[in-house]
Amino acid sequence: ADERFDVVVVGAGPAGAAAALTAARGGLKVALIERGEYPGAKNTFGGVLYRKQIEQLIPEFWKSAPLERTVVEQRLWLLAKESAVTVSYRDDRFNDPPNCWTGQRSKFDQWFAAQAEAAGAVPIYETAVTDAIIEDGRVVGVVTDRDDGELRANLVIIADGVNSLLGKRLRAHREWKPDQVSLAVKEVIALPREKIQDRFNLDKSEGCTIELVGETMGMAGLGFLYTNTDTLSLGVGVMVSDLKRLRVKPYEVLNGLKQHPMIQRLIEGGEVKEYAGHLIPEGGYTAMPSLSGDGWMICGDAAQMVNAVHREGTNLAVESGRLAGETAVAVHEREDFSSAGLQRYTDAVRKSIIHKDLKKYKGLHGLLSFPESEKLFGQLPQAVNDALFEFLSVDGEPKRDKQKQAFRKLEGVAGGRMDLVRMALKGWRAMN
Ligand code: FAD
Repeated sequence: ADERFDVVVVGAGPAGAAAALTAARGGLKVALIERGEYPGAKNTFGGVLYRKQIEQLIPEFWKSAPLERTVVEQRLWLLAKESAVTVSYRDDRFNDPPNCWTGQRSKFDQWFAAQAEAAGAVPIYETAVTDAIIEDGRVVGVVTDRDDGELRANLVIIADGVNSLLGKRLRAHREWKPDQVSLAVKEVIALPREKIQDRFNLDKSEGCTIELVGETMGMAGLGFLYTNTDTLSLGVGVMVSDLKRLRVKPYEVLNGLKQHPMIQRLIEGGEVKEYAGHLIPEGGYTAMPSLSGDGWMICGDAAQMVNAVHREGTNLAVESGRLAGETAVAVHEREDFSSAGLQRYTDAVRKSIIHKDLKKYKGLHGLLSFPESEKLFGQLPQAVNDALFEFLSVDGEPKRDKQKQAFRKLEGVAGGRMDLVRMALKGWRAMN
């Protein structure tokens, strides 16, 4: 406990492991603290892991990292009660170099943190950080739940995830509001690998993702069904404000999705192996807190760095962790651990893809609250399905009449034709 570190990293998820790896490689004495029995032990996600940001730290990591399937096809399903409008994109170019993979966090996080350990970071696992040590307004270490529990350091990198205790303690941010987080539940369903390949039309190492819009009882949220090697990950995340409003539990939504005829067919005969729940930060750009202060920096989910539209979180976590690690190395050269010195990290995040992508979607948050959410996630998917049913049914009616009826279904969601145009424009602006 008397040992002093240059940097203490709190949390060994993708953000923390990336920060610890980068700082250790830069020659700093780093402690990596994780409350789980091992990194990833309690972590969960959808989930898709992306190449680009991890590759910057570990070239060709996919040759040794525990990954599931290489994603070559991405599908989007707009669900109504018994039907779905489906859009999909498949491309062999996603194989080489791989664009992304499905993965399991319990395996991946452990492997990733082991890379930080190999670079010299000292693992301190099964240890929860309970507070920050603050002296003269500056963070100078952390308190843990161990008997000899204080660890002192020049810098603390906060990467403790969406429920960030230290983020709140340092007033980087307050408790997230119910419309800034969604609650997700997920099941891992075991199926023989050949069955998965047949049902999803995949080769033996190929994978496919399906994002599900609709059938969330009108609440803002998305479902997902991803192929792992010999399991499927099926889950749904719904805005906490909507769950509160309707007094619904997320597993009720998941059970509903499992009954959908098109999903039922894909998971049939599978055995549920795991069940997990987790919050996702979805406040976006406007919810991002201050990113650095005297003696500290904050990364990943703890700082709301999730691009929910593209289900990108791990990559932004890794990116921010790397930037925090690089900043740690740079400020050690100048021995300036002040808020002014660490502004360098905030500036780096501002110039990075994290800031640029979250900024692009900053208007989206407005569409996620009731009553817009009910239109977008409830009425619209149903109306699009109904419109297509109408349009594609060959029942003797002239096509012009069919087209009119189909449009009427869509207009019905917005209120009228002009309202539909307005709604589309609003959506377009929110995404740009
Ligand atoms: P985390 O991964 O949450 O890691 C934080 C770590 O800190 C944990 O290991 C935790 O145990 C530890 N910790 C917490 N508190 C303490 C403490 N007090 N003391 C010590 N240790 C502590 N992202 C994608 O890129 N692709 C996807 O497909 C995807 N799907 C998702 C689906 C779901 C259902 C969910 C919930 C999330 C999904 N995400 C996805 C988002 C992604 O999981 C997160 O953005 C990412 O894990 C953030 O990494 P992080 O390191 O910031 O936080």
